[in-house]
Amino acid sequence: MARVAIVGCKRIQDQLCIACAKCLKAMRTREGEFARYRDDDDLQLVALGDCGDCPGLIMPKLTLMKEINGMLDSDFDIIHLGTCVVKAKNTGKCPLDFDKIAALVKDNMGKEVVVGTHNY
Ligand code: SF4
Ligand code: SF4
Repeated sequence: MARVAIVGCKRIQDQLCIACAKCLKAMRTREGEFARYRDDDDLQLVALGDCGDCPGLIMPKLTLMKEINGMLDSDFDIIHLGTCVVKAKNTGKCPLDFDKIAALVKDNMGKEVVVGTHNY
C-alpha cells in the first residue's frame, strides 16, 4: 500500500486540468508515472495541493502537508510532482530544481519524490 501526495504548480493547477481530473484518472488506472503501482491494490491519495508558489516555496509547503496529515493520523510515503509542474519547468520559468527537492525531501522527511503524474 502506497500513500501518495500530489503537488501541482500553483500557477496552473486546476487550470491545465480542471479539478485535477487527469491526475486522479491516471492514478485510478495506473497510467503514466502511476504505472509503478500496477500491483498495488490499495493505492491511496492522501494529499493533493499546490507547490506553495514561486519562486520556490515547496519545502515549507510540503512540511505543512506533512503536519496536517499528522494531525489527521495520516501520512504519505511518496510525493508526485504533477505533470503541470514538469510543464512549468520545461516551458515556463519554474525555478524548482527537482533533484535538489528530492534530496531535501529524502533527508528531511525520509520520503520519495517522483517527477510527473499523467501523460495525457
Ligand atoms: S497535472 Fe495533476 S496536479 Fe497538475 S493540474 Fe493536472 S491534474 Fe492537477
Ligand atoms: S512555476 Fe514552479 S515554483 Fe512557480 S508555481 Fe509553478 S511549480 Fe511552483
